[in-house]
Amino acid sequence: MHEAALVLDTHLDTPANLARPGWDIADDHAHEGDLSQVDLPRMKSGGLDGGFWVIYTGQGARDDAGKQSARNHGLERLVVIREMLASHPDAMELALTSDDALRIAKSGKRVSFISMENAAPLAADPSLLVAYHTLGLRMLGITHVLNNDFGDSSTDAKGPEWSGLSPAGKALVAEANRLGIVLDASHASDAVFDQLLELSRAPIVLSHTSADAVFDHPRNIDDARIRRLAEKGGVIHVNAFGGYLVSIPKRPEREAALNALSEKYGPESRLSVEAAPAYMRERHAIEARYPVKRATFDDYMAHLLHIIRVAGVDHVGVGADWDGGGGVVGMEDVSALPLITQRLLAAGYSEDDIRKIWGGNLLRVLRDAQAVAAPSAAD
Ligand SMILES: [Zn+2]
Repeated sequence: MHEAALVLDTHLDTPANLARPGWDIADDHAHEGDLSQVDLPRMKSGGLDGGFWVIYTGQGARDDAGKQSARNHGLERLVVIREMLASHPDAMELALTSDDALRIAKSGKRVSFISMENAAPLAADPSLLVAYHTLGLRMLGITHVLNNDFGDSSTDAKGPEWSGLSPAGKALVAEANRLGIVLDASHASDAVFDQLLELSRAPIVLSHTSADAVFDHPRNIDDARIRRLAEKGGVIHVNAFGGYLVSIPKRPEREAALNALSEKYGPESRLSVEAAPAYMRERHAIEARYPVKRATFDDYMAHLLHIIRVAGVDHVGVGADWDGGGGVVGMEDVSALPLITQRLLAAGYSEDDIRKIWGGNLLRVLRDAQAVAAPSAAD
């Protein structure tokens, strides 16, 4: 049943790994071997047909130099994703519409949508959104963990700066609607979420968010907002980021040791295939010396099942933050995805319900977003 369903994930941070020397999406990797969680062999074994490859940009300085640097970073990440698709034409294909997704999956290739997490690359010149759309962008998240020029984040220690969306953020929402790009409220503040629901002419999504009612955290969302999202036709894709599923106390000694390791080997995002075994040996030693609590597959299912009960099966999907901090004990990478289907069946959900959760709801939202687009922008 899982194999036959169209299985999509809305938040694949894997493009971050493409800068690792020697790392190729077509090779078989193991999470214990290099911390990666998504590649073509594991997508196949986990029945993951595809999803949204993310153009993620960390929020830097918001002066002119910072905006220019974010602009360049976004374009570079887009190029890396397009190069990945161009290098594997028999295995992956760019998807621009829901019909594309169905056709590509049927052909046995991986359905490859493109999304942006943090609109910072557009701060220098919001009109770049037109070019991003032309080059394949179909989902746009407003912020990351800090406030930006378009709106407030849920986790900026300085608190809200715009009381939600900034004037530039409101203009960006209108432009995304005009182009048929799905708006994503993950990471944004509750006020941004409320304003997106109010302003957007199309249903919106949360691409990787969990439930406050299961674990209260600024990065999660409350039940009343989940209900309003559903009423407006939106979809919440449930995140598997451990620190948002359960309370995980920090261990400063562990953090310090891991920071020292990163200094020795360079950031994980640049870890070469050659250096990975030595790095992982040292990392495992640190983890064994300073163990911390980790979220489990049961914790993930508690969030997912709660959100299904609140939102209804037509308004839930999966966005597990693979290669972006997601993954839990018992579901370390995408090869474990059939376990979710198994648990949903055991919980009494029908095959039809489960097909909606794995991809049907997402394709509906994309159709709705493209239906409100200006005729000149629609694909
Ligand atoms: Zn994220």
